[in-house]
Amino acid sequence: MKYIYFTVGPSQVYPTFKKHLQAAIKADIPSISHRGKLFGEIFTHTTKNLRQLLNIPNTHRIFFLSSALESMERIIQNTVGKTSFHFVNGAFGKRFYKTALELGKDAEKEEAPYGSGFQLNSIKIPQKSELICITQNDTSTGVSLPMTDIHNLKDKYPDTLIAIDVVSSIPYVEIDFTKIDIAFFSVQKGFGLPAGLCVLIVNEKAIDKARELQDKQISIGSYHNFLSLLEMEVKLQTPETPNVLNIYLLGKVCEDMNKKGIERIRKEMKKKADMIYDFFDKHETYKPFINDKIFRSDTTIVINLKDHAKEVLYKLSKKGYVAGSGYGKNKNNHIRIANFPAHKITDVKKLLKYFE
Ligand SMILES: *Cc1c(COP(=O)(O)O)cnc(C)c1O
Repeated sequence: MKYIYFTVGPSQVYPTFKKHLQAAIKADIPSISHRGKLFGEIFTHTTKNLRQLLNIPNTHRIFFLSSALESMERIIQNTVGKTSFHFVNGAFGKRFYKTALELGKDAEKEEAPYGSGFQLNSIKIPQKSELICITQNDTSTGVSLPMTDIHNLKDKYPDTLIAIDVVSSIPYVEIDFTKIDIAFFSVQKGFGLPAGLCVLIVNEKAIDKARELQDKQISIGSYHNFLSLLEMEVKLQTPETPNVLNIYLLGKVCEDMNKKGIERIRKEMKKKADMIYDFFDKHETYKPFINDKIFRSDTTIVINLKDHAKEVLYKLSKKGYVAGSGYGKNKNNHIRIANFPAHKITDVKKLLKYFE
């Protein structure tokens, strides 16, 4: 059976993925040297298209890592001497926080009750914090924090670095990079690509911080630290043998998205999100899990099925639709529906029809 994946990651592949994969095989991309000229061209093509798509200015560098969890570790190592501050609104925010603790930092956190968000600007962040970590869209709970609130934090804390996890909201979420020092995402969610590649975007201030820590003899990690990544990025390379195939595919998908236009992609995604929320707001028994509309994610939508999740997921799969199960203890209460660029409006309509 041919399935359509509404899972929150990995998810449905981008419609042009297969075409680009075939072209990559034909061109022997998996065999090329990561120190050669062709790889440099791929590197340039991918970063150029990423910059255009996400409006990334030249103040920020683009690094390739292997996963979002790796990025969390590298960010802490390279920007925190002692203290980091974390907004925890789900399992991924918790992972970021724990990573800091495991690396021996004094991590502090503000934790929201399960399924709620924060009034970011009413929370006092200690002056000693070197880095503020925010999970902009926590995939485990479906809680999304308004980008404007995050941008406003920079005005309040101009000297503190701000890092945002946008793994499951990019490329939908619009980032003002004058207010964000670090952002990262892996590609198996919104970009509809295979897992095993993460994009880490960092500005000069964050790189300066890594330099400062190294000068103080604080470990900033080994092969993947901001300085080694920068040194190789200038040569259009990475320190290790990277996921060349996925870097190639990401460039191709970004190019397709640029051709389509990011405004149009975002508009379509908003329309699908509104369709899904409207439908379940009016549903007799199944309801959106997040009550406060301000914090409802448009890209990872959690629906409370009140103990019927397993049964519904099974029946959906019989129709060719794979949705995500609830996270952790809500495995049998919730389902999660991804709304990424790869999901077609017609498929969303068909999916919702099942719930009528
Ligand atoms: C999936 C996810 C991650 C982890 O991504 P990996 O590529 O598995 O490391 C981190 N943060 C969020 C919000 C996610 O949805």
